[in-house]
Amino acid sequence: MSLAKASVLALREFLKCERVLISSHVRPDPDAIGSILALREAVIQCGGTPTCILEDECPKRCLFLHGAAEILVAKGTSGLAPFSTAIIVDSGNRDRIGEVENFLSPESRLANIDHHVSNTKFGDLVLLDTDAAASGEVLYEIFRELGLTFSPSIATNLLAGILTDTGRFRHSNTSANSLRVAADLVEAGASLQTLTEQLYYSIPAEDVRSTSQILDTLELLEGGMIATMFVSSEHAVEDPDNLVDLGRAIRGVEVAVLFSEMRDGRIRVSMRSNSHVNVSEIAEKFGGGGHERAAGFRMFGTFRSVQQKLLPVLSNALRDASVTCQD
Ligand code: 5GP
Ligand code: MN
Repeated sequence: MSLAKASVLALREFLKCERVLISSHVRPDPDAIGSILALREAVIQCGGTPTCILEDECPKRCLFLHGAAEILVAKGTSGLAPFSTAIIVDSGNRDRIGEVENFLSPESRLANIDHHVSNTKFGDLVLLDTDAAASGEVLYEIFRELGLTFSPSIATNLLAGILTDTGRFRHSNTSANSLRVAADLVEAGASLQTLTEQLYYSIPAEDVRSTSQILDTLELLEGGMIATMFVSSEHAVEDPDNLVDLGRAIRGVEVAVLFSEMRDGRIRVSMRSNSHVNVSEIAEKFGGGGHERAAGFRMFGTFRSVQQKLLPVLSNALRDASVTCQD
């Protein structure tokens, strides 16, 4: 484990707090949800009282995770005094918690637990392991060091994040350690079959139909090294990960980009690269972040205007990385 032991032990002070806020990023994914729910149980184990608040609702496919019903949505929650202690997980910067900021004060003590290479190291206690495939993997190491009990529900919540952030153990972030941790979590009672059924084999029928519309928007640029797709708000799907993954699976593609219309007039940009281009660096140029091979940002504009701004930057990155088209 690359985390300093003293820092890990310092987290106990957060976990045993009478009143502790647990949060993660906007539009939470299974790593965000699994991680806040595992932390919720860890706080209970340590004698503290957790409150989980997110800017957005828990995605439907994550509702089966133990504790998901306890998650509050910032907008619908009022009358809570600011929390003096908070743990923020899987969020590369403080702004990514969105309106949950309203439940903090400038004096709040923050723990920042994460695995994003773009993490800004905000907060009073930073537990950042950029070698970990998921925040679930970081939390596994922390909980083990702290001697916490891995109940079947904690194990399932942690494995949900590792399974999804590694693209089901296929992406380059899947290390020997990710697999060892996953094996331990299965031994502790997590079911890969249940996680797969709930997270991947429960797609709403209309999302499958929308997928065909989205695939029709595929464009291959820069001699086939860049694949882009567009998701209009009308065709939004619960889990766009498979779509952008399909883009990068095309022979000759180095970077796949999914542009999705958001309700507030912004476009959400999801990027994946195969071997050479550091998409986190590119996302950071546009105010976003992520990992070397998976990153994103949001920008006001139309699909075409955002695509036009991004393409020259991607082309330069391909040139700098000396990637040449194969046809
Ligand atoms: P996705 O494309 O699945 O939305 O995101 C890929 C990775 O990039 C995730 O780790 C996600 O947290 C990160 N990411 C996506 N959008 C943003 C953004 O707007 N800001 C930051 N800092 N990270 C982002
Ligand atoms: Mn993550």
